[in-house]
Amino acid sequence: MCLLSLWKNEKRNSISLSLFEHIAQETFPHISRVVLYGMGEPLTHEKFLDLLRIARKYLQPEGTIAFTTNGSLFNNNMIDEVLENNLANEIVFSCDTFEEEEESLGHSMAVTTVRKNLDYLLKHEKRGRIKVGIEIVVMKRNYKSLEKSIQMFCDKKVDFITVSHMYPYKEHVQNETMYTMLTEEALDIFEGSGEKWDELILGVTREKFAESMQLQYRELYKYKDRLVKKERPYSERYNELLSKAKKKNVLLNTSLYLKEKEKLERLRELETIFKKIIQISKKSGVKVFLPDIIPSFKRRECPYQSNNAVVIRSDGEVVPCFKYLYDHPSYLDYHSRESSFFSFGNVKNNSFSEIWNSADFTSFRNKLKDMNKNVPYCGNCSFSTNNCFYVTEGQSDCWGNEPFCSECPYSLNLTKCLL
Ligand code: SF4
Ligand code: SF4
Repeated sequence: MCLLSLWKNEKRNSISLSLFEHIAQETFPHISRVVLYGMGEPLTHEKFLDLLRIARKYLQPEGTIAFTTNGSLFNNNMIDEVLENNLANEIVFSCDTFEEEEESLGHSMAVTTVRKNLDYLLKHEKRGRIKVGIEIVVMKRNYKSLEKSIQMFCDKKVDFITVSHMYPYKEHVQNETMYTMLTEEALDIFEGSGEKWDELILGVTREKFAESMQLQYRELYKYKDRLVKKERPYSERYNELLSKAKKKNVLLNTSLYLKEKEKLERLRELETIFKKIIQISKKSGVKVFLPDIIPSFKRRECPYQSNNAVVIRSDGEVVPCFKYLYDHPSYLDYHSRESSFFSFGNVKNNSFSEIWNSADFTSFRNKLKDMNKNVPYCGNCSFSTNNCFYVTEGQSDCWGNEPFCSECPYSLNLTKCLL
């Protein structure tokens, strides 16, 4: 599940204290929240507590510090240190399962240690100082036990639980995803039409084939004067549905719909589980943040833009979001893509404020303020599932935007970052 598992010989960097302090001095007095995480486990940083101390030193008193952990490297002394010195406001444990017999695709398998550390933190005498959260990645292999896990964490009285979907970095985990990139607006047309879409598409294909054959051989045909215009019922119906979709400002990715038709049943099952989880959350008073399963095109927005957030990498590169931290493969909409690292500058060369206020970064954020107007959406576009050049290259989209945000599950509230 994790990008790091794809790295063979790449050097894994941890931010140096001097660079972190350099960033903290300039930016932390002006921001409300610092979140310490990246690809990998934050507590593997040898001086992690020093990073927290620096963050606290430069943030305004009301500023918050949050970090994630898989919980396996925590110990009682570290927890005491964090709580007694007010070094964090929020700690989020990533746990896909607490069942030892269940197989996890990511996060820590040291279930007993993680459980012990979480319990110690939750029962700490200074517990009131911080919020303790749980982050769960829902997948095909764990969705049936999700309700039970949520109930267990609610019984433990954590402060909040956030559920995210998985970003598929590898081809085989694509089948583990419990969402579709088809939007509810497109699905309304697919399902509301009452059509048998496989028959319809086959019919359209046959008609197109006959039409092109006729065009090709018409001049050679002895009786061409007797040719009558053929009815094209499948094409007419298909065009009618396309126009209906167009009026609603959506495209129809028929290839994706045909591929995911059966998966939709499983997604409806997850919707029912989510409804039960909402009841558990209300009853226990623990906030549970759930992702969408079938996303809304209308609500598409970049979470980084709407939260005024940015990511600074361990070497000082300022990138728009997690997706741009490193080159990596992605497997969305049944095609592969080479997603590339993208930076607007490095704080070792320019001040953060120069980078943040640069014309390019400002124009990029402005575009994201109205994504549906400025950035195309690939999930509803048939070309994406048929290996559109832009989606496989992943550098710029078909409207010329760079970097490529057109097929982003974060903007659809499917995959989530801790912001
Ligand atoms: S980039 Fe390709 S798949 Fe995406 S919307 Fe444009 S044409 Fe469609
Ligand atoms: S890829 Fe998604 S999350 Fe990242 S900047 Fe673009 S829209 Fe925002």
